[in-house]
Amino acid sequence: MVVVGGGFWGTFICSRLRSLGLSVVCLDGLMEGAASRAAAGLVRASSFTPDCDWWEGRHTLACREHFSEGWVEERVVSDYVPEPRVKGMVWCGEVPLEPAVPVLVGSLPVMDYPSRWVVLAAGVWCDDVLEASGLPLTGVRASRGVGLVGPGSVSGVLSRTYRLPGDTRTRVMTMRPWGSGVRVGDTLPEREQEQLAQMARFGGGGEQVWGLRPRLPSLLVARWGPGLVVATGGYRNGLAVAPGVALRVAELIRK
Ligand SMILES: Cc1cc2nc3c(=O)[nH]c(=O)nc-3n(C[C@H](O)[C@H](O)[C@H](O)COP(=O)(O)OP(=O)(O)OC[C@H]3O[C@@H](n4cnc5c(N)ncnc54)[C@H](O)[C@@H]3O)c2cc1C
Repeated sequence: MVVVGGGFWGTFICSRLRSLGLSVVCLDGLMEGAASRAAAGLVRASSFTPDCDWWEGRHTLACREHFSEGWVEERVVSDYVPEPRVKGMVWCGEVPLEPAVPVLVGSLPVMDYPSRWVVLAAGVWCDDVLEASGLPLTGVRASRGVGLVGPGSVSGVLSRTYRLPGDTRTRVMTMRPWGSGVRVGDTLPEREQEQLAQMARFGGGGEQVWGLRPRLPSLLVARWGPGLVVATGGYRNGLAVAPGVALRVAELIRK
């Protein structure tokens, strides 16, 4: 069995399939901008209920099983109400990515053997592979996200709400410890400059890490042809939903 893509989704899919006793090879073309290499590594305990008919209850199960260590309180401070309040529990850790075979897959082979499967979990690049294979496309879009790593310190996870001068909207910036400094996650392209400015308050500077988040109206995990499952669309919560996605892939393969 072959999994194309060794990001969070490919990693959890491989692990789930191996736990069923299947022999799995993961191939990864080490694309620049892979989302999982830029992710902030945060999972909120209760917030994800994707609009999929197969999702029901999976987040709780997935969290319990895969994110057992590393839950911390998320404290929120505001420019206006500086007393921290606790918002909830956040998993804040690292997920080692699958040690994949470094192969850039051009197109998918036609699988003649029903017992052999290919799982395409290539993030925003799924449609490149499908197009080259003459298969229907998913329509997945790339949404650039940028994280910042810089000096300073926070304990646990700290979310800061703030307003920019002349702006009435409340914005949120989430920070967590990262190496010897701070990592700002949760970023959208239009907020890069704003977050660099905010980062200055915590010691200045900030090295950017960027990734292309796979975006679809809802998660896509589906059979895409004989012997082929396609999985993409995690957008901003791709780590959080990855274990549940892997459960679904296993179900599709076993049906
Ligand atoms: C700045 C930032 C912060 C984020 N923070 C969080 C967070 O805190 N929590 C959270 O839940 N989510 C977060 N996300 C979202 C999350 O990172 C993504 O949704 C998730 O990583 C998507 O995983 P994936 O495996 O589908 O795709 P990717 O991580 O993009 O993996 C796809 C893999 O496929 C490989 N590939 C592509 N084409 C080919 C090919 N032709 N042949 C072989 N291999 C190929 C690539 O090299 C890549 O490794 C964040 C994203 C960004 C950008």
